[in-house]
This record gives sequence, C-alpha cells and structure tokens, in this order.
Amino acid sequence: MAKLAGLPIAAMAMGVAVSAQAAPAFELTPKVVPLARETSLTLQAQPGARFEEIEHEVRIYPMEWRAGSDVAGVTTVKVRPEGGALRISHRFADEQEYLVAVFGNDPKTALASFRVYAVADDLFSRRPYRGDLHQHSHHSDGKESPAYVAAYNRKLGMDFMALTDHHKYAPSLEAIKAFEGLPVDLRIFPGEEVHPPDTGVHIVHFGGKFSVNDLFKTPAYQEGVEQIVASLKEFPAGLNPKSYAACLWALEKIREAGGVSIFCHPYWITGNRYNVPEALITRLFAEKPFDAYEVIGGYWLHQTESNALQVARYYEEVAKGNRVPVVGVSDGHGVHRGLNGWYYTVVLAPSPDYADIRDAIRADYAVAVESLPNAPAARPYGPFRLVKYVSFLLREVFPAHDALCAEEGDAMLAYVAGDQDAVTRLKALQGRVAQLYARLWARE
Ligand SMILES: [Zn+2]
Ligand SMILES: [Zn+2]
Repeated sequence: MAKLAGLPIAAMAMGVAVSAQAAPAFELTPKVVPLARETSLTLQAQPGARFEEIEHEVRIYPMEWRAGSDVAGVTTVKVRPEGGALRISHRFADEQEYLVAVFGNDPKTALASFRVYAVADDLFSRRPYRGDLHQHSHHSDGKESPAYVAAYNRKLGMDFMALTDHHKYAPSLEAIKAFEGLPVDLRIFPGEEVHPPDTGVHIVHFGGKFSVNDLFKTPAYQEGVEQIVASLKEFPAGLNPKSYAACLWALEKIREAGGVSIFCHPYWITGNRYNVPEALITRLFAEKPFDAYEVIGGYWLHQTESNALQVARYYEEVAKGNRVPVVGVSDGHGVHRGLNGWYYTVVLAPSPDYADIRDAIRADYAVAVESLPNAPAARPYGPFRLVKYVSFLLREVFPAHDALCAEEGDAMLAYVAGDQDAVTRLKALQGRVAQLYARLWARE
C-alpha cells in the first residue's frame, strides 16, 4: 500500500485533490476488470480505518479523456457503506486505465483514489508473468551455480526463467533438477545460448527439449548449411551466405526442439563493431526466421547506445508493417553484478506453463522492460496497447507480486545454502502470487 503515496500527484493532475494520510486506509478490488461488462468493485476500509455512515460519492475518471471537456466520461455514483465497505457496480466502456476517487463529507478532497484497468477478453483471460530468458551460470562465463541463479531470479521477482549458458544446455537442466519436487512457484525452463560455427550471430534457445549446440558436432549441420546455401537465390552484397544459412539451420532446429528462438543483441559493440553485419540484420528482419527479438538487455549503464539502436530498429520495423515479437533479457553474468533484474520480459499468458509462455511470446503478447537502478519507473517496450497496460501493471500490481517473490527467493537461496527447514517455509509460501492475482482480477 505504501506506493499509494505516489498517487495523489497523479490524482491532482486530473483535478482530484486527495488527502495524503487517508490513502492507505482503504483498498479497492478488483484492479483489472473485463471491458464492457457490469463489474462489482469493493472499497474496503482496512484495519484501523472506517467509512463514515454517510452517503459517499465515487467518481470514475477515464485516463483517455474526450476532447472538448476535461470532465467528459466521468461517472459519479452515490453509495453508503455496508459492513465497512463501499460497493459499486460499473461498466467500463473502453480498454484503458481509470482513476476511481472516493469522497466523503468534503466534495473537493478525495478520501482515497485508486487505479483500475479495463481490458478486452483476449487480455482479460491472461495474467502477467515476469521472466528472464537469457542469463549465464558459472558453467560458462557467469559467476554462480545454476541453482543459485534460479533462486536469485525468484528474489528479483521472476515468475519464470531459463539459464542459457554459451554452447551448453546441461546447466539449464541442473537448475531445473535443483528444485525438482519442491514447493516452488518459479518456473524453471531449459535453455542455451546457441553459437553456430559459421556465424557470429548469437541465438538464444529458450525452452526446447534438446540441445541445439550439440548438433553442430554432427555431420547433419554441415550438410544442412550447404543445402541451404545451395537453395539461396539473389544474395545482396555484404551478406555472407554461409553465415545466414547457419542462422537458418540453428533457428529451424530450435523450432524442432519446441523452443522459442531469440535473435540476440545485434547492436552489441564487440571488437570495435556491431555484433551482426547490417546486411544480415536487414535480411533477418525481412525474413523473420526467429520467434522473438531481444530488443533490450545485457548492457551496462555506459552501453545504453546498443539498446537505443535496438529499440529504434524495432519501432522502424513495426512502422514498416513487420510484426516483431519482443523480449527483454538480463544476459546476466553474475546476479550480484547488476543486469539481472534491470531488463526482463513481461509475458501476458493464460498460465505460467511453458506452452502458454511460448505461444504468448510468439503471438506478440510480451513486452520488454527496462528497470534501471535509481530510475523512477520501469520502461516497457513493445506494442503500444501492451505498453500502456503493462505500465499500469508494473505500477499497481507488481509491487505486491515482487514482495511475495522476494520472500520465496530468500527461502530458495536458504535451501541452496543447505538449510533443509527452508522447504517447510517454501511450502507455506506456495501459491501466493496466484492468490494475489485471484484477488486483483475480477472474476470471469
Ligand atoms: Zn550473446
Ligand atoms: Zn549471453
């Protein structure tokens, strides 16, 4: 509730004065409601607070106001408290954020104000899951064990993750095995960073059933690349056919493994140049043989230029009509060095099960989020509709989610350090994010 302290400023901007100390005394549920359906909202007085036994006024302001008047679209409902709560019913007409302000005796100063988001059915049936799809353990050039990295991901508020060590799939399985059969809500999926021998392009393989790196040692790889090269027509100058063919072959194998293939950090500056030649970037965007584009991640504060270029490239491709699913990833090489938690993906999926996460990413239901140290707010990148909605979720839902995850992450870290009692704690903590979501989303 502490974050409500930040709301009066926004409320003031909408012409609603809110008395600062009263705000945390009340809670509004649900926060996410279905579009254009009559929905009950409950304003509950919290312990130590109460509504006066008078008629209250609840005003509902749409964020996207209509031209011609700054109060157009505002709904006013009069209601008396019952059992310590105000209950109203409202039909939210547009997919957007609403401010709900409650007034008692003073019609100018709100007792409290809240945010509600109405979404169409395709989004309403989904929940937000935060994940990191690209990071390393001490089995490649990271610092910690797979189990430790996984536990720390939960502490950082991840709902799902994969380890993606360079050339290696086995460490991701080690992370899964470390928590097998334990009461842990973090979903740990397989992964690897794939480095085809004939190209400098880095590809993340997230979630598939077998190692693609291992296939490069088999004759099938060279044969496959030669076949692809032979089949390619019209090759522009500056493009190396073998490099492109190696990408296509690896991306196809990731698909065969059932994984999500991610085109990684094209504007990473390495050896005094960008990681991927411009002609190859252009060809990959034109053909889109990958499932998702790593639009942000993996860069220190002094390397913002790489992310800026990747973001600009994304919006330019989208402006051309190209649909490009995105992910944000830490590409962390040690969870205590930064990066982990700075960049991540919020996927809107029916569940955190692998198939749902994979399908949601491929279907463009994901945004990449940048959450840099000391930044006042996180910054999502992706389709405009999702950026708006996820901005609301990051502000109104994720703080409570993150507090639950942090506690579970501490118990997971204790378990990794050998504390067997941590299993009892984990059992007691299991299922809490699902319960939070059940409370904050309107019933279907
Ligand atoms: Zn890489
Ligand atoms: Zn990496």
